[in-house]
Amino acid sequence: MSKIPPFDLSEQYKIIGDEVNAAVLAVLSSGRYIGGAAVEGFEQQFADYISTSECIACNSGTDALYLALRSLNIGAGDEVITTPFTFIATAEMISAVGATPVFVDIEAQTFNLDLDLVEAAMTERTRAILPVHLFGQPVDMTRLMAIAQRHNLAIIEDCAQAVGAEWAAQKVGSIGHIGCFSFYPTKNLGACGDGGAVTTNDPAIAARMRMLRDHGRRAGGYYHEAIGVNSRLDALQAAILQVKLRYLDTWNQQRRAIADRYQHLLQHVPNIAPPQEPVGGKGVWNQYTLRVLGHTHSAEQTKSSYRDAVRQQLQADGVSSMVYYPLPLHLQPIYTDQAQPPKLHPIAERAAGEVLSLPMFPELSPEEQDRVVYSLKDCLV
Ligand SMILES: *Cc1c(COP(=O)(O)O)cnc(C)c1O
Repeated sequence: MSKIPPFDLSEQYKIIGDEVNAAVLAVLSSGRYIGGAAVEGFEQQFADYISTSECIACNSGTDALYLALRSLNIGAGDEVITTPFTFIATAEMISAVGATPVFVDIEAQTFNLDLDLVEAAMTERTRAILPVHLFGQPVDMTRLMAIAQRHNLAIIEDCAQAVGAEWAAQKVGSIGHIGCFSFYPTKNLGACGDGGAVTTNDPAIAARMRMLRDHGRRAGGYYHEAIGVNSRLDALQAAILQVKLRYLDTWNQQRRAIADRYQHLLQHVPNIAPPQEPVGGKGVWNQYTLRVLGHTHSAEQTKSSYRDAVRQQLQADGVSSMVYYPLPLHLQPIYTDQAQPPKLHPIAERAAGEVLSLPMFPELSPEEQDRVVYSLKDCLV
């Protein structure tokens, strides 16, 4: 029996390969490889898609976070509130600009920042809140924006896993002050390499991010007004992303249909808790992540959980699954070598020991999905 991968990008290429090839060849023959019509066209189309006035393409989702933080002059002495249950880049870039990430625990149902805990984590140094729409499920942005307004804080949305997701019928990345996107190949809108973008409705912030992504200069001259970086999106990637953006809504609907089917097939299965879509939000299912329950563990024991045994057995059945993320950020070596013991975040720690992401990509067939569910049920008894 063939193996079922966690995602399969070659299937997508079989469908849109001709269009991608034509777009790539057009860039190659244009002779314009940095900037130019392909990049500007993509920026315009992506801004229209997210419904912001501005989009600045850059080299990765990581750089998008860096540019967002720098554009707000967040740096040494500042604190940014964020989640410990995310990919490292979220907190890493807060540290990279010289600020301190202040972790706040997550909600058990959505794996997203627990908004009940955010205000208690604020100090006079807090400058911004950096929520992550994890696995493609949106944070309650109505409530978060109200909190931010009350305390005069900026909101930088990490939308890396949530392109096209909505809160109260508005796209994520258009609600906070800045939205940060990744076009890493396995994201819902993936390039054939690295890529990223920031979105905003604030022209001054946009101008500053454009300047910072290009060595701290404006419009390509040799006058530098800030220490910037080289973080441009390649014209080749921009051309590929223009093609793929036209399919994004279809792919997101296919992911939704697959998620609905998983929900239906897994509803009465013991020892698991399927994911829940937040009321008021529309997710885009970058991952279908459930919890494997039934066994206790602590922060130290997350390495050998019941979940890991289930995962190994699935693997032996030819079904790939993934663990995002096995160690919360507040327990990572880079955030634990201070003098004091780390502040604990029990919901995130528990999630790290229980989460399991099942195969999820638009081309996953019902037959493959049936096999995943059949194997999982078999492993859980
Ligand atoms: C992928 C990802 C990033 C980083 O994006 P890159 O393009 O890989 O640099 C940041 N945050 C989250 C939540 C991500 O999933």
